[in-house]
Amino acid sequence: MKPRALIVGGGLHGASAATHLARSGFAVTVIEKDYAGRHASGVNAGGVRRLGRHPAEVPLSVAALERWQRLDELIGDDGGFQPCGQIKVAESEEDMARLESRAAEVRELGFDHEVTISRQELRRRLPAVASHCVGALVCDGDGAAHPFRTLTAWRRQSQREGAVWLEDVRVTHIDHAPGGGWRLSTNDSRLPPLEGDLLINCAGGWAGELCQALEEPVAMVSQALMLTITERVAPFLGPVVGSASRALSFKQMDNGTVMIGGGIAGFIDSGGEQANVCLAGLAENVHTALALFPFMRDVRVVRFWAGIEGVMQDGIPVLGRSRKHPRLIHSFGYSAHGFQLSAITGEIVRDLAMEREPALPIAAFDIRRFDSSCAMAQASHS
Ligand SMILES: Cc1cc2nc3c(=O)[nH]c(=O)nc-3n(C[C@H](O)[C@H](O)[C@H](O)COP(=O)(O)OP(=O)(O)OC[C@H]3O[C@@H](n4cnc5c(N)ncnc54)[C@H](O)[C@@H]3O)c2cc1C
Repeated sequence: MKPRALIVGGGLHGASAATHLARSGFAVTVIEKDYAGRHASGVNAGGVRRLGRHPAEVPLSVAALERWQRLDELIGDDGGFQPCGQIKVAESEEDMARLESRAAEVRELGFDHEVTISRQELRRRLPAVASHCVGALVCDGDGAAHPFRTLTAWRRQSQREGAVWLEDVRVTHIDHAPGGGWRLSTNDSRLPPLEGDLLINCAGGWAGELCQALEEPVAMVSQALMLTITERVAPFLGPVVGSASRALSFKQMDNGTVMIGGGIAGFIDSGGEQANVCLAGLAENVHTALALFPFMRDVRVVRFWAGIEGVMQDGIPVLGRSRKHPRLIHSFGYSAHGFQLSAITGEIVRDLAMEREPALPIAAFDIRRFDSSCAMAQASHS
C-alpha cells in the first residue's frame, strides 16, 4: 500500500509538495480551508526574483529559477513566466556602495547573477527613471509570472499525479493515530477523520497555529501585504524595479497597468481570515514609486488589495523536519518572497519524506533555530 501524506494548505508550497510526493508514490491529500490559492499564493505580485535574497536562500533560489525556465515541461504550463529581469535602483552614492558590497557578497558565495550597472546603463535600461538615480544592481534572467495561473498549474499537475484536493475543509484538530501516523479532524461533518503516515505543514499565514498545536512554537506573524494597480499606461518598463533603500516592487503588466508593492502591510481582521488595506501605507508606497518614476504623478490608481502571508522573525522560511515529531515536515513562513521558491520546495519536501538528504542546503531553515527564542518568550508570559 502507498504511504499516505496529508498536506495542510492549498497554496503554492502545498501544491508543489503534493506534485512531487504524488509523483514519488505517495497517496496525497491536500486539505485547504478556503480554495486553492485564496491567500498569498493567488494574490501576490508574481515576482520571480533571485535578486537580493538572504544568503541562505541563494542556492535554492538559483535552483528554483532553473525550474521556472522549464515549468511548462514540469507542470504543463509556464505560469506566464517572463524573464524580463529584476533591477534594484540606487538613489545615492551610499545606496550604490551598499549594492556593490551586496554583489561582492553574492560572488563570495560562488554566484555571479547580481551585477552592478552605471548611471548610463541604468538610463538605457530604464529611460523613465528619475534623474537623481545613480546606478543599480541587476539580475538578468529573473522576471515575473502570473500567481493564480501558476498555482492552478501546480494543482492540476498534482491531480494528474493522483493527489486529491479537499477545498472548503479546515483542519481543526491534529491527533496521533495508532501506529505512529496522524489523524486530522476537520470542520466538515460529512468527512471521517483523515488518516495519514506523514503530515506536511504548508499552512502559510496559519502555519504558526499548527506549530503551536503540535507544541513546537515559532517566532512568526501573519501580515496583510498590499498591492496597488494603476490604470493603463503606454509601455515604458521592461524589468521589475525595486529600490536599494526603500520598500518597493514596481512593474508594468502586459495590459499596460502598473503594479506597485514592496511588502507594505495593511490589517488582518479580528477573525484572522480577511486582509484589509491601510490607505496610509498604500499612499507611502505610491509616493516611493513616484520618487523613482515622476512621470506617473497623473496616472490614476484603479484598485488595490491585500493578501495574508506568514512572516518569520528572521525573514527566512521553515523548511525541514519537525524537531518533535518524526513524521511531520514543515514548509512555511516564506516571508513575502515564497512565490519564486515554490518551484523547488516540493522537491525538498519529497526528499525529506523519502528520508533522503536534499541536494540543496536547508540547515538555515531548520525549525530548531526558534528553540531558545520561543522558550524565552513562553517563560516571560508565564
Ligand atoms: C501581496 C503579496 C505580494 C507578494 N509578492 C511576492 C513576489 O512578488 N514574489 C515572491 O516570491 N513572493 C511574493 N509574495 C509571497 C508569496 O506569495 C508567498 O510566500 C507564497 O505564496 C506562500 O505560499 P504558501 O503556500 O506558503 O502559503 P498560502 O498561499 O497562504 O497557502 C497556505 C494555505 O493554507 C491554508 N490553511 C491554513 N490553515 C489551514 C487549516 N487549518 N486547514 C486547511 N487549510 C489551511 C490557507 O487557507 C492557505 O490557502 C507575496 C505575498 C503577498 C501577500
